[in-house]
Amino acid sequence: MTQTTQHSFQAEVQEVLNLMIHSLYSNKEIFLRELISNASDACDKLRFLSLKDDALLEGDHELHIDIEVDEEKRLLTIRDNGIGMSHDEVMENIGTIARSGTKRFLEQVRQGGDDNSQLIGQFGVGFYSAFIVADHVTVLTRRADAPAAEGVHWSSDGSGEYSIGALERPHHGTEVILHLKEEEDEFLQDWSLRSLVNRYSDHIGFPIRMLETPPSADEDDAETPAPEWKAINQASALWTLPKSDISDDDYKAFYKHVSHDFEDPRTWAHNQVEGSQNYTSLLYLPSHAPMDFMMQRDEPRGLKLYVKRVFIMDAAEQLLPHYLRFMRGVVDSDDLPLNVSRELLQDNPTVRKIHAAVVRRSLDLLAKLASDDNDGYQAFWADFGTVLKEGIVEDNGNRERIAALLRFTSTHDTDAGDVVSLADYIERAGEDQDTIWYITAESLAAAKHSPHLEIFRKKGIEVLLMHDRIDEWMMGYFHEFEGKKLRSVAKGDVNLGADADKADDSDSENEAATELLGRIKTALGDTVEDVRASQRLTDSAACLVLSEHDIAPHMKRMLEQAGQSLPDSKPVLEVNTGHPLLRRLADAGEGDFDDLARLVHEQAVLAEGGQLDDPASFVARLNRLILATSEAA
Ligand code: ADP
Ligand code: MG
Repeated sequence: MTQTTQHSFQAEVQEVLNLMIHSLYSNKEIFLRELISNASDACDKLRFLSLKDDALLEGDHELHIDIEVDEEKRLLTIRDNGIGMSHDEVMENIGTIARSGTKRFLEQVRQGGDDNSQLIGQFGVGFYSAFIVADHVTVLTRRADAPAAEGVHWSSDGSGEYSIGALERPHHGTEVILHLKEEEDEFLQDWSLRSLVNRYSDHIGFPIRMLETPPSADEDDAETPAPEWKAINQASALWTLPKSDISDDDYKAFYKHVSHDFEDPRTWAHNQVEGSQNYTSLLYLPSHAPMDFMMQRDEPRGLKLYVKRVFIMDAAEQLLPHYLRFMRGVVDSDDLPLNVSRELLQDNPTVRKIHAAVVRRSLDLLAKLASDDNDGYQAFWADFGTVLKEGIVEDNGNRERIAALLRFTSTHDTDAGDVVSLADYIERAGEDQDTIWYITAESLAAAKHSPHLEIFRKKGIEVLLMHDRIDEWMMGYFHEFEGKKLRSVAKGDVNLGADADKADDSDSENEAATELLGRIKTALGDTVEDVRASQRLTDSAACLVLSEHDIAPHMKRMLEQAGQSLPDSKPVLEVNTGHPLLRRLADAGEGDFDDLARLVHEQAVLAEGGQLDDPASFVARLNRLILATSEAA
């Protein structure tokens, strides 16, 4: 037998442990759910592997999870006959190595979240929650494919160190033994454990058993009958039950098991499909994004695939498109073979049909949330909206459905956080307006204050203010909604009908204006495509306008920084000929004209949050003009 060795937890693990013990104390009973959940995952894995290799079960065909109490020694044991762990796996899973989320989680906590229990929930609580109620935890385990001599013994008091060693263990599976703290007597009580299992783990797909002494047949019988293991949960996979037999609490408890989330789900949809295809889907929408959601693009943990009630794999990628990666739940198919592989899933007509149905159901679920619970939907949107937007680009076939779920800030409704749908926009705009106007910019402030909006404001036309990074990319694929064109206010010609103010301009004024535009164009050379009199501006002196298919400047900058070379497209400079600055320009002498014309262009660049090609000469020009003005005064 190899020696037992002593190790320290990584600093991060220890920190998480301490935090958890303190901030989750008011929810301490969740440790049982977590340990049962791990045991159930271990049984799922073994059942799956045994499909190919029956010998792994070592003759023990009934997978189960046992809870045992030793009142005198204050021990609570959770034992499974699942897959078990090797020495290395123990080290990796519950030992020194901080799991990927740990560091980021701690950063979040340090950044001053008040509600740590919320954060911990998002992080997933897991095995370490045992230390909320235990002052000493021992794990005895052996992999189902390892010889008896390769059992592993792990133990720790949760304060910095753990020991690990080898152990002769005839039976595969894992046993987690908690030595309960002084004040945790309730977890030694039979009834209290039963009620917790009932509340949290009733629909785990394996029997959870406790010892029960059968009532003796004859009251005079001196011999007490030996206690027997009896299942204390339903042990039926929740999704297989008739919907009418499932309570909301059952759904919520099961969600916590499949999602590793600590909060209740926001909503869910349970569908049992029978006919040419037989499958069940139980889809959940989480209440909040896990704290590292945006980073884990490859996290496979979204949907679990079962075949005929047997867990096969975490298979989010095959069952859901990327833009729905926030969904959680279970798909159980009767039509796939039990030995289905990841490769096979990729190109399987049954999977394709399930995929399409799961997408439809997810979008329906969101649409229903939007119509039934506006606050809930806004909260969903704040967390997952940018992800859903990817669907406009990725999923042609469902574009209209997804578009109906989009929400935007708007010039009409810019109260903090208020967002509007395209349908709202159309309703307000009225039948006659055939265009949905929007602007994309780097930030909400840049969008809101863009000179391009001036004429729209004046005429009371609503404009959607898009300021997500993804928006400009998305709008490149999104040109029409319910028969209305979607157009950027910063691109192409804007013709909002004749303007009464301009109608009585005299011919001579027009001629002067045309001459001015020509002079500015000459001064600017090839910095701009053209110089035009603007229909857009009422207050600002100038703005830049792109042609219909050009990429917005903030997006262009981003792509260029990422190393992409883009076709060189030049904007048109639109000037407000009624603006005092332009009148001043018309009167300027040869020397000043050049400086002034360039400044007009440069302020248009700056006003939309752009960067100047040559900031130093801008400053020099500005100073020359300031000094010239003060000398003149
Ligand atoms: P999670 O369950 O979210 O992965 P946990 O902290 O609960 O996180 O568990 C960490 C890992 O330890 C699990 O992913 C699993 O690999 C391993 N593990 C925990 N409990 C068991 C068990 N009863 N049997 C086998 N492996 C286990
Ligand atoms: Mg777990």
